[in-house]
Amino acid sequence: METLLEVNGLKKHFPVSNPIPFKKSTQSVKAVDGVNFDVYQGETLGIVGESGCGKSTMARLVNQLIKPTDGSVIFKKQNLIDMPAEKLRQMRQKIQMVFQDPYASLDPRLKVGELIAEPLVIHQIGDRTSQKQRVEELLEIVGLNKRYADRYPHEFSGGQRQRINIARALTLNPELVICDEPVSALDVSVQAQVINLLNKLQQDFKLTYIFISHDLNVVRYMCDRIAVMYLGRIVEIGTFEEIYANPQHPYTKALFSAIPKESPFEEKERIILKGTVPSPLNPPSGCHFHERCPVAIDICKTKEPKMITKEKIHQTSCHLAD
Ligand code: SF4
Repeated sequence: METLLEVNGLKKHFPVSNPIPFKKSTQSVKAVDGVNFDVYQGETLGIVGESGCGKSTMARLVNQLIKPTDGSVIFKKQNLIDMPAEKLRQMRQKIQMVFQDPYASLDPRLKVGELIAEPLVIHQIGDRTSQKQRVEELLEIVGLNKRYADRYPHEFSGGQRQRINIARALTLNPELVICDEPVSALDVSVQAQVINLLNKLQQDFKLTYIFISHDLNVVRYMCDRIAVMYLGRIVEIGTFEEIYANPQHPYTKALFSAIPKESPFEEKERIILKGTVPSPLNPPSGCHFHERCPVAIDICKTKEPKMITKEKIHQTSCHLAD
């Protein structure tokens, strides 16, 4: 498969302001701390992990909504990090986002038609007539009536608003769509409709998705491969089937043990992790997971594990997998 996106050594450290006036900050929150992964054309890569593990920050780094501290984001063989502003603006037409909250992500003062046409206006594409036609076309693509273009966001349900968000993300014919928890704020019945819509759009428009979620059942349905994140780092990456059948990292094992059994005869032990996720302001030495890991050994406290390739398509970072 052709590689659409390469992320290498990506870091985002947010400096913490020093409480002493006029003193420079010496501490930083390591929200994303050296992440590497590829995304292949036409696939869905799921990013999973607990709240605060850096999933959403990473999404914003890929889309260049925030600048990284270090690393590269190579999209279609071009590094977005050092790109001149005008070229980056052009490239970003091909990377769009669908955000989690369908209520907060639409400007309540604009009509639906204006919201969907906004990317065309910003990028100065087409005239008013062609923009109106594109809006109507997109509303029908996402399963909404084209007459809704004249209404305001507050007139719609959560599921309809998320369809409007998806239409807006499609306005500029993107190749990569980053879906940041796109269904977690919706009712379960509406979740299924939005997931089916995303799957259909992927087939119809040959889209590639990065799909961020903490719901492993949704991820299982949507994703070809998954990357498991813990405290700003990827600890395991591979196809969903491979990781589900044979998780290598103790954190992945604990996460997957929470998926309900498929049949009452399936043997599955629930693994409850002790403690909470440590602060990214001061992450533990060695393996970031060692304070909570049920099988940690001495070396885990001092030595950071490397990413080990178990199968061609399955990598994990754990000393015990070495
Ligand atoms: Fe646990 Fe050590 Fe593996 Fe980290 S490296 S997951 S602490 S066994």
